Amino acid sequence: IQLQRIDIDMLIEEVVALYPPQSGLEFELDLVPALPPIYVDPVRIRQVLHNMIKNAQEAIAPGVLGKMNIKTRKVEENRHCYVEIELHDSGPGIPPEQADRIFEPYVTTKSKGTGLGLAIVKKIVEEHGGTIRLISERGEGARFLIRLPIATEST
Ligand code: ADP
Ligand code: MG
Repeated sequence: IQLQRIDIDMLIEEVVALYPPQSGLEFELDLVPALPPIYVDPVRIRQVLHNMIKNAQEAIAPGVLGKMNIKTRKVEENRHCYVEIELHDSGPGIPPEQADRIFEPYVTTKSKGTGLGLAIVKKIVEEHGGTIRLISERGEGARFLIRLPIATEST
């Protein structure tokens, strides 16, 4: 993997700009300005975002303009600093009984799904020392938290 110093907010804006309103999703971005840079492979982190957006698009009923809210923030846990990306869509959400398995490869509820999207997302995030969690509750759209470590070139 090719690590580069990137500004996550810029990367998110760049990816989201590829989805016009005709793509069925309207984005609402709450990005914290001037987050510390992260050292990641931008190609792979773009793929993470595209996979997440694709799932939101597919979750929304045809003909409906869905919403996806993307937030960023800085978090600290056990003396480690992360950039956290919260993705929340206006689709039907994920029933708690499915939540445990969605990150496993080949787990899909779609007739033509591969079940690979989230497995790939999880693998990429973990290769970067990060984590992904589904935190949505019943009655709301899917809500995911992705954390990527804020690291320096020397770590
Ligand atoms: P696929 O999209 O090919 O089904 P994924 O690994 O991307 O595979 O997703 C696995 C399953 O998780 C989906 O089939 C769907 O049931 C559920 N899922 C993922 N993202 C969402 C979302 N944003 N809203 C509702 N369900 C979702
Ligand atoms: Mg998918």
